[in-house]
Amino acid sequence: MEENKAKNHTYYKRFDTSKDASSHKIVGLAGNPNVGKSTVFNALTGLNQHTGNWPGKTVSNAQGQYMFDGDTYTLVDMPGTYSLLASSQEEEVARDYICFGNYDMICIVADATCLERNLNLVLQILEITSDVVLCVNLMDEAKKKNIRVDLKKLSDMLGIKVIATSARSGKGLDELKHAIKNACYNKKHSYLDISYDENTENAVKLIENDVRRLAGEHINTKWLSLRILEDDNAFTLSLNNFLGFDIYKDDALCENIFLAKKLLNRKGINKERVRDLIVSKIIEESEKIYKECVICHKDSTLRDRRIDNILTSKKTGIPIMILMMFVIFWLTISGANYPSQLIYDFLFKIEGRLYVIFSGAPPLISGMLIGGVYRTVAWVVSVMLPPMAIFFPLFTLLEDLGYLPRIAFNMDKYFKKAHAHGKQALTMCMGFGCNACGVTGCRIIDSPRERLIAIITNSFVPCNGKFPTLISLITMFFTLTIANSFLSSVVSTLMLTGVVVLGIFMTFLVSYLLSVTFLKGEPSSFALELPPYRAPQVGKVIVRSVFDRTLFVLGRAISTAAPAGLIIWLMANVNFQGTSILAHFNAFLDPFARLIGLDGVILTAFILGIPANEIVMPIIIMSYTLAGTITEAGSSLELFNLLSANGWSWLTALCCMLFSLMHWPCATTCITIYKETHSLKWSALSFIIPTLCGIIICFIVANAARILSLV
Ligand code: GDP
Repeated sequence: MEENKAKNHTYYKRFDTSKDASSHKIVGLAGNPNVGKSTVFNALTGLNQHTGNWPGKTVSNAQGQYMFDGDTYTLVDMPGTYSLLASSQEEEVARDYICFGNYDMICIVADATCLERNLNLVLQILEITSDVVLCVNLMDEAKKKNIRVDLKKLSDMLGIKVIATSARSGKGLDELKHAIKNACYNKKHSYLDISYDENTENAVKLIENDVRRLAGEHINTKWLSLRILEDDNAFTLSLNNFLGFDIYKDDALCENIFLAKKLLNRKGINKERVRDLIVSKIIEESEKIYKECVICHKDSTLRDRRIDNILTSKKTGIPIMILMMFVIFWLTISGANYPSQLIYDFLFKIEGRLYVIFSGAPPLISGMLIGGVYRTVAWVVSVMLPPMAIFFPLFTLLEDLGYLPRIAFNMDKYFKKAHAHGKQALTMCMGFGCNACGVTGCRIIDSPRERLIAIITNSFVPCNGKFPTLISLITMFFTLTIANSFLSSVVSTLMLTGVVVLGIFMTFLVSYLLSVTFLKGEPSSFALELPPYRAPQVGKVIVRSVFDRTLFVLGRAISTAAPAGLIIWLMANVNFQGTSILAHFNAFLDPFARLIGLDGVILTAFILGIPANEIVMPIIIMSYTLAGTITEAGSSLELFNLLSANGWSWLTALCCMLFSLMHWPCATTCITIYKETHSLKWSALSFIIPTLCGIIICFIVANAARILSLV
């Protein structure tokens, strides 16, 4: 076997590939979580992979392309991982790609402010391939923290090219592109050989020849042998898949594995100890390199620790969290009112014009298009756009700042009590935007049991589609009579915060109930990394949250609102036995709906609103207005009058809010749940559980209020 020596490590020749001459290069992007991988990915490809200051955002490989010097480069963004000794789904995805992926080289992104931990992964990847460029990112932060990295020495010690970048401002990315190109064209086809303790090395020698015979020169056979000695079943499964046969069917290999394990056992080394020895050696090597290459003048984490003493302390952590939620809601509610009204007035002025334009068309067509499609879309846009355009940037600022993992930290204790996973707090945060995103985000939870709990309970967090309904009901029925507008917005915000806190409480309650019934088990322990606080880039955050989140969610809402508007208009205007289909539907549901404090129209609206929660209010309005009460519901007062004229009281509004918080997930979320769980049973439970909770709670509230003569 060929050998070449880097300064303090030995490299052996890796497998050959025939793609060297092709002008299409494939580059794997690896790194610890939260080191700026997605930022590098976006900067190079011009794409919009989600970035945010918390570990675990990327859960599958994303791809993007860029051109450089006439070549096309496909960048494959792997999930962030601390190690290749995989213990989580993300780590498995990254490890399998690095082991078996058809790439030309790997670009490892590392955080200059905590290089020691990052080097663990670098060394592990180098054990598989040395066709690597190390991108030491966040150099601007390192400079601020007085951390100096000797890049030349680091490059010499690792035997690979090292490039310093500040990806957020684009610094160093040209050099990175050059280095990537060089690595693609000058492949070393080798890997790093780390010397482990004598016993492990002897055991490896016993099986290495068989492993080479079976796996060929595709992967570092010593690395493979170590995984086999560790009994890493998930890995051997991936290996067998890659090879196309089961290596454990080879008698000679099994015999030698037996002998190797016997040898280790004689020295008191079991498979866990093998892993410990491997990990300790890698940590030791990383430390050595770190000490030689990084100079740190003072404790760079002092400021963060001081802030954390307040934001994550037992006494102040949760109150600050609720206060922060209150401030975000308050800004959203008080800031959205005026623009909502403006947009509404504008869109309804257009509606008048549209009727004029369509005056020659048959009433059925103009009614369907204007009264059905246009009016529903106009409502969705005017009530959704302003709050989202305020809420999403504020939320993204908190995310960029690094606050979300602190929320998970504060909530961890309570999730443990509910036998659920602390990271569920992060998936709940994602649910605020969109429950479907929250459900996909549950992949960051490794234990299948706890992941299911997080998926099933995600819809207790009101998504953005529910906020307009909640806010408008609170404003109309609980704060409309408060003359002072400041006081009125504070009371509205308090109520909205209360609803969200109730949703969080229900999450805990249902998580607990699930974990003692369908999903029995103990909470698993996990290490939650608190990333450094980073000053968010306000401009970018606003642009990103408006385009990625606000317009995306709005677009989806409109695309479901338009056909829903049409169908509902038809249902309201096509008669059967002298009454509209919608009225038949409403009348059929009415007795049951009244038991839970609603009426047939409201329940019908929730059912027809399955495509998206944001269309529930428009359906309610349309049902009532088509019944001929009034024709427009522009301001809160007009809407309040419309609802009151149709028998609404504060109790109806309250039950409607509770049912809005707790009912079936929208269609997109249901489909996402099925895709994530591949199970009809869990998808059905995710549908039934929040619905049952909503029905029970509304029933209790409505009937208690009636018995106590509160209405
Ligand atoms: P990933 O988890 O590795 O994909 O990390 P992201 O790309 O999502 O970045 C994590 C956080 O670091 C985000 O808040 C980024 O804006 C920020 N970030 C990324 N690169 C830099 C950089 O070079 N300098 C600074 N100051 N922040 C950065």
